[in-house]
Amino acid sequence: MIGKKMQDGLNKQLNAELYAAYLYFAIGAWFEGQNLEGFAAWMKSQAFEEMSHAMRFYNHVLERGGKVELYAIAKPEGKWSTPVEAFGAAYEHELKVTKMINDLVDLAREEKDNAALIGLLHWFIEEQIEEEDQTLKAVEKLKMVEDSKQGLFMLDKEMGARPLIASAQVINPGLTQA
Ligand code: FE
Ligand code: CA
Repeated sequence: MIGKKMQDGLNKQLNAELYAAYLYFAIGAWFEGQNLEGFAAWMKSQAFEEMSHAMRFYNHVLERGGKVELYAIAKPEGKWSTPVEAFGAAYEHELKVTKMINDLVDLAREEKDNAALIGLLHWFIEEQIEEEDQTLKAVEKLKMVEDSKQGLFMLDKEMGARPLIASAQVINPGLTQA
């Protein structure tokens, strides 16, 4: 059985992951408007991955006899002036998520909740390394091609190669390594 404090923390994180999906959808829509379909596809794929992150918290709370609380999802900002700024918003958000995961780790330690610590949060510690790395690298590459339309088109093609995660894997994240 999960403790009340841990349950509240995990429900807040469930909301933050759903907000992340919203943010990635918003950035994807922005890229679509710039005719950069590869970046847009990458963002949509990441939005689905964020829903799979949300499902990990959802499933964990339920599996441990807890109550899932679905809080309202905030409206993401939808206006950016450059691709660097738009992708930068994703990187900034990932930094926030990393901090939230670290705070949950601290809470799990205080509560002596090893199921949350090892069964759930350990995976997210590793995952946030990847999330920060991939968003920062994309921002840095975008900065490199800032004055080159050709470079931007090539990068767009590269980003578009990312496959979309199937919906069944979003619902049951145990099936995916995302
Ligand atoms: Fe996430
Ligand atoms: Ca990932």
